[in-house]
Amino acid sequence: MVYRDKKKYTEYKQFRYKKLHKERGLCVNCAREVIPGLTKCMFCWSKESLYNKRYYQANKERLNKTARRRRDRYKQENRCTACGAPLMDGDGVVCVNCNIQRQYPAHKYLGGLSHEVNHKTVTIKS
Ligand SMILES: [Zn+2]
Ligand SMILES: [Zn+2]
Repeated sequence: MVYRDKKKYTEYKQFRYKKLHKERGLCVNCAREVIPGLTKCMFCWSKESLYNKRYYQANKERLNKTARRRRDRYKQENRCTACGAPLMDGDGVVCVNCNIQRQYPAHKYLGGLSHEVNHKTVTIKS
């Protein structure tokens, strides 16, 4: 496919790259092996989660407020409070998929990585 718009073409290429990686079970960022159930490898995931943690710390109040509001809305509409998918009979407050994710959270796979190692291997540009 040929795009006249260069930006669109780049977007298309990035999308294809990520999709191909996903299909092969490789990290969408760096092509290392992914953590089962995620689209990123251990390295990228820990890097990202560190980012998220810092972002969360900085915007705690605002994020909590929005999250609570969203959860309430989802509850009223009988949708999964985690991902917003419509709930089926027998589901709790989260859908089947989210339930499984909660039982096997990604950090369990990171158990082998000590805190110190995380800090040494993960450098954040701010
Ligand atoms: Zn990666
Ligand atoms: Zn869900």
